[in-house]
Amino acid sequence: MKYHIVTSQELIWTDNAAKKAHNSASARAADQQASAVMHLMNNFQHAFVLFGCGTGKSGIYILQQLACCMLVSIVRRVLLSLHTTLCLQCIICKLLRHMQATKYFLGTSLRVEKLLPSNVVADEISSDFDLLFISIHAFKDLMDKIPIRFSNGTSKISSLTSITTPNPNCSITQTLRNLARHNIKITLLSATGNTLLMDFVGHYIGLGNFKVIGELDQYPIPDVVINVKCYSDAEVLSVLVLQRIKQLNISKKDCSFKIYIVVMTTDAAAAAVREALSAESISCLMLTSDCLQSKKEDTMLAWEEREEQCMVSTIVDGIDNGTVEDVFVYSASYSLFRLIQSFGRIHPARQNHDHATLHIFDTGYDPSRDGDFERQLNDIKVKNMVPNSTDNTTLEKFYQDLFNIQSYQDFINCNNQCYRKLLFSHCGIPSDVCETCTNCRKNHVMSDAAIQARAKQDEIESNKEYVRQQLTKMKD
Ligand SMILES: [Zn+2]
Repeated sequence: MKYHIVTSQELIWTDNAAKKAHNSASARAADQQASAVMHLMNNFQHAFVLFGCGTGKSGIYILQQLACCMLVSIVRRVLLSLHTTLCLQCIICKLLRHMQATKYFLGTSLRVEKLLPSNVVADEISSDFDLLFISIHAFKDLMDKIPIRFSNGTSKISSLTSITTPNPNCSITQTLRNLARHNIKITLLSATGNTLLMDFVGHYIGLGNFKVIGELDQYPIPDVVINVKCYSDAEVLSVLVLQRIKQLNISKKDCSFKIYIVVMTTDAAAAAVREALSAESISCLMLTSDCLQSKKEDTMLAWEEREEQCMVSTIVDGIDNGTVEDVFVYSASYSLFRLIQSFGRIHPARQNHDHATLHIFDTGYDPSRDGDFERQLNDIKVKNMVPNSTDNTTLEKFYQDLFNIQSYQDFINCNNQCYRKLLFSHCGIPSDVCETCTNCRKNHVMSDAAIQARAKQDEIESNKEYVRQQLTKMKD
């Protein structure tokens, strides 16, 4: 593995940080987490860290900060949310991360702050922080206002998700290029380790040579069943989802688990699902883009701490509860990239094919219009998001594979390949057939039927042979 070589002393500090964070003497950092933390602490080179969904990306900066605190070495970190198309979503994620970090830092002198564009406008900028959560828009405002504020020694961690959203924004290019130019080390945390994606992003933000922490063949493939069902009528979908949830509650009645329902289509569809659940007394929270800010914060806290079984949300990433075992994708996903994010709502501790399932209820919903694909590709080229040497076919395939609804639809309509293997192969991550998804089960049934047919044929043949032998004997 291409990990930073962790010295025993460094490992002790990281493990001590894990003990502190989890308030447990037996806690220790995962090997990959320790490598990433050490890389951050040494701060030599820009890097990508390949981490599976829910395998502890946020743990990296939390542990690193705790370790630095114990070593009495002050390093300020800025956590930058880079969502360009879903600004609202980035604010939600940031609030959640802020709450999480605050919880882990209890009893230390570490200070966590968050900064929204409104804070920058109102000049409510805290200069006293160890970990700052900031949206890219607030960051851009801040850089315009006080460009030299973040000088050398400050490191940025950002999320890969956002830089690769289909709607690149010029101000982001500039902001990030400035970071790289000021010798500020950037660490990108990625749940999808496509090598082309890393090259393009590295080029886009001017990283030059970057280090990759973690390897694709070591990527933890979630042991989760993928069920795909296609429906032609979106009207009855909420009823079908409700039925499935009732079945789950009967079959898993002895354990407690939560259900995340992703409704990417419309807020109205999300409200319809929520109504259907509430009418049957299934407790449910809902988070959509039109909720008020204070309501969003309450809902996220409630999802973490209260008993409601279901979350209906138009948002796929960053909203976590460790007891989720079932994720429903309602109607469609906008891309395979978003599908992987949806998948990631089931955390490793609950990933077991005996009880964890990604249920895809597809209706063929497609919001894209003629020419969208060409416009988006053109946008990427015009904004120099990929090197000039990239040929059109490579770019088209790359974009289509991960970020366009067409590849999601091809995925759904594939009826002879393992869904899980297919999904991760789009990220360049190799995996074995799962033997549990809709297609694998179908193939099993088919091969079982083939074995039976063969046995039947053998029986007929052996009978024929027996009759032949008997006849020969009689002749003799
Ligand atoms: Zn499979």
